[in-house]
Amino acid sequence: MGSHPSNQFFSGNIEVVCGPMFSGKTEELIRRVRRAQIARQKVQIFKPAIDDRYHESNVVSHSSLEVEATPVKSSIDILKKLYDTTRIVAIDEVQFFDENIVTVVRKLARRGIRVICAGLDQDYRGAAFGPMPELLCIADLVNKVSAICTVCGSPATKTFRKNTNDENQVLVGETDVYEARCRTHFDHYSEVEEDLLAYTVSIRNDDQGELKL
Ligand code: ADP
Ligand code: MG
Repeated sequence: MGSHPSNQFFSGNIEVVCGPMFSGKTEELIRRVRRAQIARQKVQIFKPAIDDRYHESNVVSHSSLEVEATPVKSSIDILKKLYDTTRIVAIDEVQFFDENIVTVVRKLARRGIRVICAGLDQDYRGAAFGPMPELLCIADLVNKVSAICTVCGSPATKTFRKNTNDENQVLVGETDVYEARCRTHFDHYSEVEEDLLAYTVSIRNDDQGELKL
């Protein structure tokens, strides 16, 4: 795969929109896509085949905005399905992709393509989700968006899973399973965070002896 003549005069870049569920990541992705389409730029939108909550192929937000998308089973399929004339690639639910997504995104940007990724930065335990840490590091532009905490109305940066009997990281669901929560109302109700609090970290500090955190 060499440089693509159609895009060789454009500079590519990598944008990542991250945050918890219901924070408007998909709305923001659709907003950027629509503006690009108004500017008559060729856009391709991809999503992992796993996310069929609303529609098998379209990307749909919780507020019912939607755009047509191509579901793909693996990140390499994005390169296989790319048209030569594409200027912008948008990828929703990017956290569900395998680790090759990082290479794919870099290759796209190198071809002069603007890559817009949207995904959950953390899973329901508050741990980093899949390839997100690396994508956030290599991005040229990062937006971390928040939702509204369902308990207190503060900005919510966490996704709380209501039914924790299922411990798989991936459990595709909606408001039946997930709620947006601020850190306080996530920590207080999360069993995983309880474990974290019980765990004592010792740090050796030469001036003050050992610190227990
Ligand atoms: P994401 O892709 O981050 O899950 P969406 O873009 O699909 O989010 O949906 C955002 C929309 O979800 C909001 O504009 C709002 O209409 C709706 N919504 C439902 N619950 C909440 C909440 N707790 N906080 C904020 N928005 C919410
Ligand atoms: Mg979304």
